[in-house]
Amino acid sequence: MRLSDMTALSPHIVIIGAGLIGLSCADSLLSAGMEVTLLEARSGPVQGASFANSGMIHPSQSGGWAQAFPAPDAGQSIRDFALKSRDLLERRMDSLGLKAMRARPRGCYQLFDTDMAARQAQADYAARQIQANPVTDPVSTFSRPGLYFPDDRSGDARAYGRALAESVQERGGLLITDATEVRLHRHGGSRVGVRLGTHRFKADHVIIACGAQSPALLAQLGLTLPVVPIRGWAADFARPDKIDLPRIPVMDVQTRSAFTPFRNRIRLSGTLGEASAAPLLARWADILPVSMQTLGAPLQIWSGLRPVSQTGAPIIGRVADGLWVNAGHAHMGWTLCAASGRLMSDLIAGKAVENSFDYTAT
Ligand SMILES: Cc1cc2nc3c(=O)[nH]c(=O)nc-3n(C[C@H](O)[C@H](O)[C@H](O)COP(=O)(O)OP(=O)(O)OC[C@H]3O[C@@H](n4cnc5c(N)ncnc54)[C@H](O)[C@@H]3O)c2cc1C
Repeated sequence: MRLSDMTALSPHIVIIGAGLIGLSCADSLLSAGMEVTLLEARSGPVQGASFANSGMIHPSQSGGWAQAFPAPDAGQSIRDFALKSRDLLERRMDSLGLKAMRARPRGCYQLFDTDMAARQAQADYAARQIQANPVTDPVSTFSRPGLYFPDDRSGDARAYGRALAESVQERGGLLITDATEVRLHRHGGSRVGVRLGTHRFKADHVIIACGAQSPALLAQLGLTLPVVPIRGWAADFARPDKIDLPRIPVMDVQTRSAFTPFRNRIRLSGTLGEASAAPLLARWADILPVSMQTLGAPLQIWSGLRPVSQTGAPIIGRVADGLWVNAGHAHMGWTLCAASGRLMSDLIAGKAVENSFDYTAT
């Protein structure tokens, strides 16, 4: 058999959305010998929710967070999935040559307003078998009561996503950007096809990985997906050389926002559903009155939509013949991307998998 014949036999997968989740699917599917085409509405990859997140790879936060939903703690199965994903992510950072990302110190911090709140949180984490150690070094949590999570990690999600996009294309994956008019349709009975303008894609499988926009795409087929957007904000500052700052992310529990040091900038990011960045900046001015003055004006203010599912768990599964969804990762998309891509690839390849967040759309 010639190579060209073998290629013709590989299943072709069309992935809609080139954020962390779509790219991770493409990466795993290519590794499993499948052909992939990514369709992205924006001018490049990783420009949606994945663009300027807080950078925390935090299995410790696997429980539901979103106040908009009374989501139950999605529990141990997601935490196991997150730990697996963290390990896969680290291996992929190595193979992508992202040495500086891998060299970051381990862990993340959380800060609290009172000692009692920190002690209570530590007890709650311990009850869920999550290691959280009291912090004694005042620099790490800005002299506030804090906890350290040794199993967490951090890294620049955008830099990882861009490196992944390059690797996907080098290995033959096709990334089509500015694809603003993607249309789904049914053909040959129940099978789903994809059109972009007048072009019809040959697709053995279609994956919807559009983050918070996934429900809008599925609505084209009359399907509903219980995912809602919850906005978060980010403000990037030039990193000052002269002040002593934590080397890993510090999350403020009250506002679900983080102070994250990157190589040459500092990012404040998070909050749930606020209409502007003002509450984020006001809270950190309260926590860090002197340092915020040193940081000066932000270089960039950004907002993104977390795709939040009703259950608090990501939705990774088949919704119709040849149609799959990988969305709803909420505040965990960076943490869960590598395992989510691997699970998608394993599901399409028909392999048995340990963790499956299968979902049947109505
Ligand atoms: C402020 C903030 C802080 C966060 N911090 C963390 C953190 O510290 N740790 C963590 O694990 N997670 C964090 N997250 C969550 C994480 O960033 C998201 O869960 C993750 O980025 C979701 O990835 P995604 O690929 O599903 O969505 P996206 O990154 O939004 O990608 C979806 C892509 O689909 C494209 N698209 C949409 N509709 C269409 C269409 N019709 N046709 C073609 N393309 C389309 C979009 O343009 C986009 O590029 C944070 C999120 C925010 C907002």
